Amino acid sequence: MTKITEHIRRANGKPIFSIEVIPPIKGDNLKNLLGNIEPLMEFRPPFIDVTYHREEYIEQPQADGTIRKIVTRKRPGTVGICSAIMHRFDVDAVPHVLCGGFSRDETEDFLIDLNYLGIDNVLVLRGDPAKPFKTFKAKENGYSYASELVEQVANMNRGQYLHEEDTAMTPTDFCIGVAAYPEKHFEAENHDIDFDFLKQKIARGADYIVTQMFFDNARYFDFVKRCREHDINIPIIPGLKPISTRKQLDILPRLFHLHMPDDLVNAIAACENDAQARQVGIEWSIQQGRELIAAGAPVLHFYTMGKGDNVQKIAKELF
Ligand code: FAD
Repeated sequence: MTKITEHIRRANGKPIFSIEVIPPIKGDNLKNLLGNIEPLMEFRPPFIDVTYHREEYIEQPQADGTIRKIVTRKRPGTVGICSAIMHRFDVDAVPHVLCGGFSRDETEDFLIDLNYLGIDNVLVLRGDPAKPFKTFKAKENGYSYASELVEQVANMNRGQYLHEEDTAMTPTDFCIGVAAYPEKHFEAENHDIDFDFLKQKIARGADYIVTQMFFDNARYFDFVKRCREHDINIPIIPGLKPISTRKQLDILPRLFHLHMPDDLVNAIAACENDAQARQVGIEWSIQQGRELIAAGAPVLHFYTMGKGDNVQKIAKELF
């Protein structure tokens, strides 16, 4: 299959449409997910990202009044979904690969499976703390930061696997994406520190960046300018999330630590129901998308959160 950087090169300045999907809740089938992607294929996304969801620690009340503590994964299936998407739609699937919940050896096995499947792109992330914990804790013999995982993938691309120092191994050929936060990652003390750690991910082998969602294009433009001034010349793909409910006005800034421009806040606040909010979200994303395309963004990457009807309306206007 084809690397993201190669897709961008081949597009030759024409903006690319892409999406991120999340695996269904355990027990649901894949039909809805694939059905939601289907109408978006009209806009020829060359790649589709599939998120990864680590384990959660939950307490289950039992009939006898006791509490049973269990570890479960609510949305397993990332690799299988990647495979299904690739076969059904003939596009590249990009699995998200996390530090959280993985030891180095498990990561190596995971990457070997992806390689066998013909997956050439990975988005490398640290992951959030396992629920309900507030701080991230690496698994034993795992990683604390995405840059370390980037290094492992880059090593495999050089034929350097774990524990095989003296054996010639077949190099993988992954194109490595990493996350960045135009409005700063919430744990970082300040923008400079966050930026230095982003540079570390790039120095260790990242090939492209995907940003956290933002609603104020000025934040993305400032971030791109800063990257270019620091000689970060890899593609910076903006992540866009069309607002779809009134509640998101409250939830998204809290969850993702981002700024909502007053015009957007006022427009959503004036909505009487979610259908109206969804329409405002569509119009806002179209306006954001137009400006980003005019400024030369290589890809518009939409967080669909499992539904695609609003993204379809936006893509119709933009692509
Ligand atoms: P890192 O780059 O490791 O950074 C994490 C924090 O540590 C930052 O504050 C950084 O400044 C700091 N830091 C980095 N290196 C060092 C160092 N050496 N020493 C000290 N501090 C350091 N989460 C999921 O669970 N599944 C997904 O599929 C998923 N997909 C995502 C897709 C995108 C595009 C984005 C933007 C986020 C996604 N996330 C996902 C969320 C992501 O896992 C969280 O935002 C997580 O908190 C940080 O991940 P990171 O890869 O940016 O971490």
